[in-house]
Amino acid sequence: MAKPVIAIIGRPNVGKSTLFNRLTGSQTALTEKQPGITRDRLYHEVKWAGREFTLIDTGGLDLQGTGEISAGVHQQVEMALKEADALLFVVDTRDGLTITDTEIAQVIRRVNKPVILAANKVEDFKKQAGLYEFFQLGLGEPIPVSAAEGLNTGDLLDQLVAALPYRPKEDEEPSLTIKVAVVGRPNVGKSSLVNALLGEKRVMVSHIPGTTRDAIDTYLTRAGQQYMLVDTAGIRRRSKINLPVEKYSVARSFKAIKRSHVVLVVIDALEKIAEQDKTIAGYAEKQGKACVLVVNKWDLVKQATLPFAEKVKQSFSFMPYAPVVFVSAKTIWRIDLLFETINEVFAQGNLRIPTSSLNNLIQEATQLNMPPSHKGKRLRIFYVTQNKVQPPTFLLFVNEPELMHFSYLRYLENQLRQAYGFNGTPLRFILRKRSKNIKEATFKVRADLK
Ligand code: GDP
Ligand code: GDP
Repeated sequence: MAKPVIAIIGRPNVGKSTLFNRLTGSQTALTEKQPGITRDRLYHEVKWAGREFTLIDTGGLDLQGTGEISAGVHQQVEMALKEADALLFVVDTRDGLTITDTEIAQVIRRVNKPVILAANKVEDFKKQAGLYEFFQLGLGEPIPVSAAEGLNTGDLLDQLVAALPYRPKEDEEPSLTIKVAVVGRPNVGKSSLVNALLGEKRVMVSHIPGTTRDAIDTYLTRAGQQYMLVDTAGIRRRSKINLPVEKYSVARSFKAIKRSHVVLVVIDALEKIAEQDKTIAGYAEKQGKACVLVVNKWDLVKQATLPFAEKVKQSFSFMPYAPVVFVSAKTIWRIDLLFETINEVFAQGNLRIPTSSLNNLIQEATQLNMPPSHKGKRLRIFYVTQNKVQPPTFLLFVNEPELMHFSYLRYLENQLRQAYGFNGTPLRFILRKRSKNIKEATFKVRADLK
């Protein structure tokens, strides 16, 4: 599979070519004191932190003879926007913010590609005041670097790699089959629900032994979508087991949850919600699985669903994102709705938010509600990127991870959910301290690059 491409852009003489050399460890690009040297566009493979990408130095397009810098830069940016998956925008702290920088930023802000802003020619890291004007570009935190001396380039690479779009490897292609675990206490109607899901009209492919020795998975197809019901044997065989049934079914549920994409936590409309229901749902949450709370046997209840749904929501308050669906396995009522909900939460667990959109949102959120502080030190979120799906996982680059509060993460999570939905799926946050140790970062560059 093709590697993601990162294009270095920026006006002439900011140090693109020098940075290219530094990041690729090669001496292939020409660096001249005099701007105006014609260069070929250069590609080079870079490996960092287990990821690989192709770096392009677009500098060659700047100055093809005409001297029309603006037009040349425009061309260069257009090319980068077309070909690249992410952009490395270089500015020059010695010159400060220029009109051309602002023009370039205007163009690239319009597309949804991750942008990393490198503020080059910072040799003295104690003098960072000059960095702040680059915030005006609206592209997030500028990362100070010295391409010439190789300072802080490890940090830059960290952020570049984090901003790369996710490209699954061959063996982790997104599954086309939605794996569904039907779990819950004994007698809530799991077995009946499995039968209802299989239905008569739906094509059932086969029962296929699962990964655990005695697990049997059942495949079915509905409206062109394939599903696998995880360990249907566990659901059906349960009644023949004399063991303490509750314990046995919990262990079995856990195994099924682990192997699934979507968890259906089945509860009995006639029974009180029990600790065990919460234990099972809590495990789905911990495993990062998309989840639907299924209230079964609704044919026996002569009540409005809404107040009951409220009660269910309250009991499962640790997973407020999980939709509640009322069904009757016996009368095959709302089974279609359940299928649609499974599709929906599966899709939401696979949502990927473009980095620029994400950073705009987080920036607004932190302006609306200041991050927490402790002993006069305030949490700063420099940059956010989504690095995983199932569940959607966000990498936050911050000054001091310890300054983060649970309640503030909750707030950010709510903002994300308001903007993007993420219905039915848990979210994860990983806090990363931005490395300050420049020497160490520089060493890493040399060691990791070939
Ligand atoms: P490009 O036109 O953007 O590719 O810029 P170059 O890489 O050709 O660099 C332009 C000039 O800036 C050259 O004279 C470099 O030596 C100088 N330069 C590049 N990086 C740095 C740096 O980090 N610090 C300083 N002081 N000079 C740099
Ligand atoms: P499991 O132990 O969770 O697999 O539950 P079963 O599927 O074996 O169902 C337990 C009992 O509940 C059986 O007597 C079913 O007939 C009954 N049952 C299951 N689903 C429904 C339903 O939707 N409505 C009604 N009225 N009874 C149901």
